[in-house]
Amino acid sequence: MTRLVLVGPPGAGKGTQAVALSQRLSIPHISTGDLFRAHVAEQTPLGEEAKRYLDSGELVPDSVTNEMVRERLAESDTKAGFLLDGFPRNTKQADVLGEILAEADGRLDAVIQLDVPEDVLVERLLGRGRTDDTEEVIRRRQQVYQSETAPLLDYYRDILVKVDGVGEVDEVSSRIVNALDAHA
Ligand code: AMP
Repeated sequence: MTRLVLVGPPGAGKGTQAVALSQRLSIPHISTGDLFRAHVAEQTPLGEEAKRYLDSGELVPDSVTNEMVRERLAESDTKAGFLLDGFPRNTKQADVLGEILAEADGRLDAVIQLDVPEDVLVERLLGRGRTDDTEEVIRRRQQVYQSETAPLLDYYRDILVKVDGVGEVDEVSSRIVNALDAHA
């Protein structure tokens, strides 16, 4: 069983790498951003609540986010492990994740940090064309990452696996797998 979290600034290629890695390791990919976007598209009450946060680059309130993740992690496919992408986004969410896993006598195996220099990030984001990829929202999401999410790198220092995120998708994906093997 492999329980993993992928952390990195917006534009680091988390989504792309998460898809590749979850296939290689045969574990479900759980992206809170994707879950929120699906709720927004389906206009569920949760989606109505989350939309303004996604549109402005702010974090959706922890109460909403944590409940959504708790429900997702209760599904049976996660028994084989999982790869979380975009969660936790702050240390309070990390505390809650620890509690959820502890209730099932589990804990995380590793937290993968995708490391990408800032100029590469902005270039990638502007080329992506998502509706929340306007310059102002991109800037705000970078600020939120620095102030809210970057402290996770210290929080998880004992299980942190730092990987260079610059390169072709397959190249980066192999780097992650090798780094995880070396960590195990
Ligand atoms: P992402 O697809 O990971 O870039 O997330 C897109 C947006 O979804 C973020 O800018 C937030 O508004 C929201 N979001 C995703 N994950 C979380 C989370 N763990 N906590 C709060 N908001 C989140």
